[in-house]
Amino acid sequence: MSDALPLGSTIGILGGGQLGRMLAMAAARLGYLAQVYDPAPGCPAAQVAPCVTAAWDDAEALDAFAAAVDVVTYEFENIPATTLDRLAETRAIRPSRQALRISQDRLPEKEFLNRIGLETAAFMAVTSEQDLAEALSRLGSPAILKTRRLGYDGKGQVRITDPAEVPTAWAAVAGRDRTVDAILEGFVPFEHEISVIGARGLDGRIACFDPAENVHRDGILRTSTVPAGVPARVTQDAVLATARILSALDYVGVIGVEFFVAAGRLVVNEIAPRVHNSGHWTEAGCAVDQFEQHIRAITGWPLGDGARHADVQMENLIGDDIRHIPRIAQEADARLHLYGKAEARPGRKMGHVNRIVRRG
Ligand code: AMP
Repeated sequence: MSDALPLGSTIGILGGGQLGRMLAMAAARLGYLAQVYDPAPGCPAAQVAPCVTAAWDDAEALDAFAAAVDVVTYEFENIPATTLDRLAETRAIRPSRQALRISQDRLPEKEFLNRIGLETAAFMAVTSEQDLAEALSRLGSPAILKTRRLGYDGKGQVRITDPAEVPTAWAAVAGRDRTVDAILEGFVPFEHEISVIGARGLDGRIACFDPAENVHRDGILRTSTVPAGVPARVTQDAVLATARILSALDYVGVIGVEFFVAAGRLVVNEIAPRVHNSGHWTEAGCAVDQFEQHIRAITGWPLGDGARHADVQMENLIGDDIRHIPRIAQEADARLHLYGKAEARPGRKMGHVNRIVRRG
């Protein structure tokens, strides 16, 4: 604690979406200030913390931001490398550039996971329609074609069930100029999707929250439920795998690790070097939630232990789900969290609700 960033210091947060907003609120709770950087005017975090509205390549704005903050963190992984290079000249970036680099690109991410002994879907890099046809004949159908970079919420990916679909699949992912760095993944016939939110502090200590079971619809997370409906051995293995990733990356901060559970085996789908939607349940289930845990990690506080004091189901409120707010507001065990977004577009995450599940 004596080495922790002094109270009243300023945490710089790259990205002002709902995750940045929740990080800023957690920072304030621990006696820190936050400053947010986001190119979009009126981002959700701007309602709770001062926000710099400037482009990712605005050198002057980046220098001023770096000068105004004591440590830099981020709420999403697709921040341009040049932005980070500039900030890293004068400020610590936590989690590190290496963690970000690996998770920005599905190919080095999978290679890293395999290197440290964790199973992933079978995969092959593809950069042309011809590559794709070849990879599909090697990996077999069904398979999933994904862009290596910039995919999220199921975007930039297409499932292929028959070799005849190769041209349309390639056109869908590669776009008009017909070229993109992509990856073909063998289909994992999973029974469950789970995720572990883990954290590693500046002192190298690790704490993980219990795995949550995740249900997606149209590629977007709908619910996360704890405890997950998987055997205790799978739960333990998922936590151990997360700890292995954190150590291997010499990581500082909160990480989200998504797994498939297939025939009792754990297959890592992807890692997110940040707080994660599937960890929102910790707000209602743990003394120290994932947002505070992240702020603790990057400022040198001791970590919360991750223990869970309730069974929780988190439901995302997407698009016009917000019409249910009056009903949810009357539920006794529901904790509502809205992101302050004015317009409820289809597929847009507007908020979430954590429901405490009473046992028996
Ligand atoms: P991703 O963007 O990689 O998280 O993928 C979005 C969703 O697509 C996952 O949550 C899964 O439901 C599904 N998915 C992705 N990759 C695979 C795979 N290799 N096998 C089976 N399902 C997958």
